[in-house]
Amino acid sequence: MAVIIDGKKIAQDIRNEVRAETLRLKEQTGVTPGIAVVLVGDDPASKIYLRQKENARKEAGFLSQEFKLPQDTREDELFTIIHRLNRDESIHGILVQLPLPGHINTATIIEAIDPRKDIDGFHPFNLGRLFTGNPYHMACTPKGILKLLDYHSITIEGKEAVIVGRSNIVGKPLALMLLNRHATVTVCHTRTRQLPAVTRRAEILIAAAGKPEMIRADMVKDGAVVIDVGVNRMDDGHLVGDVAFHEVAGRASHITPVPGGVGPMTIAMLLVNTLKAASDQILSKK
Ligand code: NDP
Repeated sequence: MAVIIDGKKIAQDIRNEVRAETLRLKEQTGVTPGIAVVLVGDDPASKIYLRQKENARKEAGFLSQEFKLPQDTREDELFTIIHRLNRDESIHGILVQLPLPGHINTATIIEAIDPRKDIDGFHPFNLGRLFTGNPYHMACTPKGILKLLDYHSITIEGKEAVIVGRSNIVGKPLALMLLNRHATVTVCHTRTRQLPAVTRRAEILIAAAGKPEMIRADMVKDGAVVIDVGVNRMDDGHLVGDVAFHEVAGRASHITPVPGGVGPMTIAMLLVNTLKAASDQILSKK
């Protein structure tokens, strides 16, 4: 039976460290980290994520400004808010909750954020830094996955890593992070042929497809580390991952549960990125 990686506990340890570090920063500089949260429209999933982030933000002792904007907000109105937040010295991190409504160009909005305040790590500057192996802000979910592996002293260097999913927020940045840590990385997607044969090669297998329980035991190598990013809400309201947990746990060496695996780490990494953004911006003014 696999070791179950307790993302909730690891995330809480990190959140405690962030809270202590925030207090120290406040004592030393008199400045409290500030985060701005922008939500356009009323997507129910976005609202749940924002509530979780708000609780974490409060616990860390950060200040916050919230912008809850109507669904029909124009792109230029959003630009104006972001430009103001870029100049606001009390705000060190800007979080624009995705997805944005279809009439707003997500890429141009992300590019409008000052890269130093891009705590989601989605700005092309931060992606470019990751690409060249000299990262600044890194996307929270993949960064959290690396922390889970490190916490369990799982070697990444030289390992065969397979990622199912190639999104800009999970699969692609994770591939670069694992490559920077010297894994041999394969990224799969809907056009991948013989997916089970590819996933069976993985010593570290990451499922980020958004397809309930698509990774079955016969797709997993004996002793693999299996990280489940998927969050799929079923008709009866309960959450399942992309991995068939019980059968895969019988084959893997380590496995993350859903919920309580990767999800809490994403939020913890958002706090870590905000604290780093705040420290760098405060110290650069000294
Ligand atoms: P996207 O829908 O943007 O991307 C899904 C990716 O999976 C695509 O690249 C797609 O391929 C690939 N894919 C889908 N079905 C298959 C399949 N049957 N075989 C192979 N590849 C497949 O999703 P996200 O990256 O945004 O999210 C993925 C999952 O992770 C979701 O369940 C989401 O809720 C969850 N998530 C969880 C987070 C957390 O903190 N726990 C954070 C972010 C996401 P193609 O490119 O060819 O379409």
